[in-house]
Formats: sequence, structure tokens, C-alpha cells
Amino acid sequence: MTTSDERRPTAPGTPDAASGWPIPTSRIWDVDGNEFIDFHSSFGAVLLGHNDPRIRAAVGRAMDEHGVSFSAANPLEVELAERLVTMIPSAERVVFSCTGTEATFHAIRLARGYTGRERILKFEGNYHGWHDYVAWSHHFALEEGGGLPTPVAASAGIPAAIRDLVEVREYNDAAGVRELLAREGDTIAAVIVEPVFHNAGAVLPEPGFLEALREACSAAGTLLIFDEVITGFRHGVGGAQGRYGVRPDLTTMGKAIGNGFPISVLAGRADVMDHLGPKGDVLFAGTFAGQILNCAVALEVTRIVREGAIHEHLARLGERLTTGIQAAIDETGARAQVRSIAGVWTVYFTDEPIRRFRDFARFAMDKNHPVQRGYRTWLLERGIYVHPHYMIRGFLTGAHTDEDVDRLVEATASFLRAHRVLLAQPAATR
Ligand code: PLP
Repeated sequence: MTTSDERRPTAPGTPDAASGWPIPTSRIWDVDGNEFIDFHSSFGAVLLGHNDPRIRAAVGRAMDEHGVSFSAANPLEVELAERLVTMIPSAERVVFSCTGTEATFHAIRLARGYTGRERILKFEGNYHGWHDYVAWSHHFALEEGGGLPTPVAASAGIPAAIRDLVEVREYNDAAGVRELLAREGDTIAAVIVEPVFHNAGAVLPEPGFLEALREACSAAGTLLIFDEVITGFRHGVGGAQGRYGVRPDLTTMGKAIGNGFPISVLAGRADVMDHLGPKGDVLFAGTFAGQILNCAVALEVTRIVREGAIHEHLARLGERLTTGIQAAIDETGARAQVRSIAGVWTVYFTDEPIRRFRDFARFAMDKNHPVQRGYRTWLLERGIYVHPHYMIRGFLTGAHTDEDVDRLVEATASFLRAHRVLLAQPAATR
């Protein structure tokens, strides 16, 4: 894929005078020159759109004025840190790394260093990156997971010993968390959660769930980590914690703040963050931590985010998308549902409630499934790109237009019509 193939015939947006590339754009082109509307948006890392001129200018300015990387504290890093403390409700200190995986790794090591405890609690289906601490029970076949939540390694090569340091519960199961923390909280360093469960599409926290986590963690002296790698800056200026009014102790962010550049953030309470080195005894390192171009881009993205128009745009297009697809579901009688929040959207091919990973995994694991995979292939054949994996949600960006959304709605409607008989059956029997 490329965003700059000169063979593209109908790119939206004004062509950039210097490069001729469309700016900004929701389009991508494959090596054969086929054009797609990109709803994958780099796993949600692209917030404003591809090739945004403001980002290009910020990178150019930073290179002219500063350079690329010195691996020493720099003014852009300081400015960004000072700004984030004013934007993220729970942030008193921030540090930077490059990927969401690094941020969750550092968050958990810090929680362990701060509390002197080793175990963590995570939720089935929640994804926090690929490192050994968290690569448990994110996507698994239900037969492997057993009747009750139990840690399932997401990869070969993860030492079995780490399994003893991980507890899993179901998302939205406040009672399960309360019970565990009341009994064993004094051995649990942190609870890590996606405050909005986007690694199963757009599953919202039920009223009281995040508050219950907060309360149970505070009572047990366990740190609450909100993994806002997807929600941060996309769900509003203050991320999901701003939206739901619950303050975690530590927050991880990535993706949207870099609009495709590799920057991630660990933020949190000053008394906890002060345990990070070199001030404290928890090792924190990285050649590219606070890298200049990443910081310059993040300063520009956060400036734009603060203006608010991007969030209005995502909400408006998300509404258009759900209204359009819901009308097609109603018209065809498909057992399906559509959800969108902050421009993150998913079509679930079931009419049963989805509030946890198991509701979804029950019917969706088959890679050649005529519905789960079939829908994504159908879209691809009509010039619309979403990731082929059934768990990966679509992302709207600042560059998507009404027309882009209408094309998605129409392609989805034609899929629902073409599979009317199949989709009238209950999901479990398809
Ligand atoms: N946390 C969440 C919620 C994510 O969705 C992801 C990636 O999709 C990560 C962490 C890991 O981020 P990265 O892929 O940048 O390492």
C-alpha cells in the first residue's frame, strides 16, 4: 500500500503544490494502482488523515530548527509534557516512548516497583501490546480459555512462569474484580484495562464498571492503569478518562497523538511517576524517548485536537455511518448490529448483546467464515479497506468525508441484501 502512488486517478482533497500528493486523504493505493478508502487507518494511529499538511509542515520545521534525534532532553519534549499535563485529567507527570507496547510495559514495571507486588489483573480480549507481561488472553479460542477466565498465552515463547503473575477477568465484570481484589489485592500491583474495549470493536464500559475498578483498586492499594492507546486524544481532549470522569493512577497513550508517527506516552500521579529513573529506582530508558520529530508531530496533533473540530467531525460521521448501516439492517432483517464511538466503528453479525470478549468470540473465530471474513472481502472488492481480521475495528479520521461513509454504508447494505437468508439465522448456527 502507498499513499503516494502517482497512478491514483480520483484522489479527494487538494493536491499539494510541491509533491502533487492529495492532502489530507482517506485514500490508499496498492502496488497495482487500485484505490481504496482506508478505514483501517493504521490500526487507528492516523487521526487526522494521511498526508496532513499541518503535520508535514511541523516535521519540516522541527528538522530545520532542531534536527532529528539527540537522545537528550529537548525543548519540544518539555513543551509537550507541560501541555499533556493540562489535557489528561490524571496526568501530573509524563514520559515518552515510541509504541503502545513500550508504554504498557513501563506502566506495569512502574506499578510493580511502586507497590512491591508482582501480579497484575487484565481483562479477556483487552490488548495491551505484545510483551510477555500482557500477551495473555487477548484473542483465544473459547475451548482454550475454559469455562472460567484463566490466562491463555497469546504466543509461543512466553515463559510459563509469567502465567502465575497474571489474573484475568471478563470485561464489565465489576463483581469479579471486587471479589479478587478484596481477597488477594495485597499481591496485585495493577489492574490494566481498556476503558473502552476497542479490541473487540466498540464495547462500552457499563455504567459503574470503571468506577468499581477505581474503588476496588484504591481499597486494595492496587494501581489502576487505563490503557488509552486507542482512546487517548481520539475520544476527546482528555481521552476516555475525560469522557467517563474516572481517574486512573497511570495512563498509557499512543497511536492518535502521533498521527502515524511512533510516539507513546506514560502519564500518571506524581508520587508514582517519581519512582521512574533516574530520579527513582525503576529503570526507564529508550534511545528514541522524546525523539524530536515525534514530539513536534504530537505538539501539532494536540494543538489541533484542542480546537475540538476533529472530535465533532468523528462524531458526526460516526452518526451518519451508524444511522445508514442500521437502516440497512432494519430493511434486510439481518441479525446484526452496528456501533460507533469517537469514529471507531464495528458491524457485529449478531443481535445478541456484546459486553465482553466471550459474547463476540463465541461465533467469530473462523478465518474463512462466510460472514465475518466475507464482509471484509466484500468491502475490499468494492474499494474499501478494513483490516481482514474480524476483531479489528474500522477507524474514521479527519480526512474521511460524507461520501466515503456513504460508500461504506452502500457496500454494507449490498452485503446484507446478498446474504439476507444467512443473516436471518442466529449467529451461532451460521
Ligand atoms: N494498547 C492498546 C489498547 C492497543 O490497541 C495497542 C495496539 O493496538 C497497544 C496497546 C499496543 O500498541 P503498539 O502496537 O503501538 O505497540
